[in-house]
Amino acid sequence: MKRRPVVALAGGVGAARFLRGLVQVVRPSDLTVIVNTGDDRDFYGLRVCPDLDTITYTLANRVRRDVGWGIEGDSFQTLAALRRFEREAWFQLGDQDLATHIHRTRRLQQGASLAEVTAEIARAFELEVELLPMTCDPAATAIEREDGSRADFEEYLVRDGAPDDVRTIDLSQARCATPGPAVLEAIQAAESLLVCPSNPLVSIGTILAVPGIQQAVDLRRDAVAVSPLIGGRPVKGPADRLMRAVQVEVSSYGVATLYRSFVRGLIIDDVDAALTERIEQLGIAVRTRPTLMKDSNVSRDLAASAMEFAKELC
Ligand code: GDP
Ligand code: CA
Repeated sequence: MKRRPVVALAGGVGAARFLRGLVQVVRPSDLTVIVNTGDDRDFYGLRVCPDLDTITYTLANRVRRDVGWGIEGDSFQTLAALRRFEREAWFQLGDQDLATHIHRTRRLQQGASLAEVTAEIARAFELEVELLPMTCDPAATAIEREDGSRADFEEYLVRDGAPDDVRTIDLSQARCATPGPAVLEAIQAAESLLVCPSNPLVSIGTILAVPGIQQAVDLRRDAVAVSPLIGGRPVKGPADRLMRAVQVEVSSYGVATLYRSFVRGLIIDDVDAALTERIEQLGIAVRTRPTLMKDSNVSRDLAASAMEFAKELC
């Protein structure tokens, strides 16, 4: 199969906002997105892939604008009814969203791989972008807290509210997984390799933990990344808490230290311009841009900058 010239590594909401811009400056049929599956889990007996779904719904123009996940205008009647039986129904899945998970679960039970089902769902939403799960194997991220308790990522994030007492991030399942079909080939064949503004540890870090992927990106060492931190804070989510837990500076400089083996260019926000010199000392070129993607014009301009930067550096 013909490989696509632009490849992006992606988590969920931050990535989807960036990709919404990227498809305005790159033909969707030229783009492959390799997506984190470390947050995947069964809810109510159904297989849910939060990051794949967020990207699918966003690129299909169906995503809930207020939160960045789920389907716009979806109702939650099934979940409300389910609470009669399961008081612990804390993970929000809308009625239309549930159809995606029912279909995925049934196809997986029939023996289809996650890569096949992902392609089917993307087709059903009329996406031209190719979405590849980082792996078809189980790769659940586990979070261990200071009190010794363990939770998988969505439990830590949604059920427990992402507290600031993380002891370790356990990627051991991802470290035993095999890259999804075409993942390594896509990285090797790409003309431009981009890293979306996603959680560097539990979205991008998870993808890189799958054996072979880190080596493939290190071998090129020409990726362009967009920092997910602005002014030393994540736009949303627990990147700050998780970076503290692994003793990485909570800033775009800290992101650069995590990416230094494979990223040649990093786009940071204008407000972080003072970090430029320190990041350049790591051997990474820096561009400053507005990176808060409050609308699709900012996403488009940011994506255009990332593409230009990647072409310049290659
Ligand atoms: P999740 O699976 O939804 O947590 O998705 P990601 O890992 O893709 O996104 C989380 C990261 O995206 C967080 O660290 C956010 O700071 C970052 N993010 C979200 N929106 C934006 C944005 O508008 N600009 C930038 N630069 N980062 C963003
Ligand atoms: Ca996620």
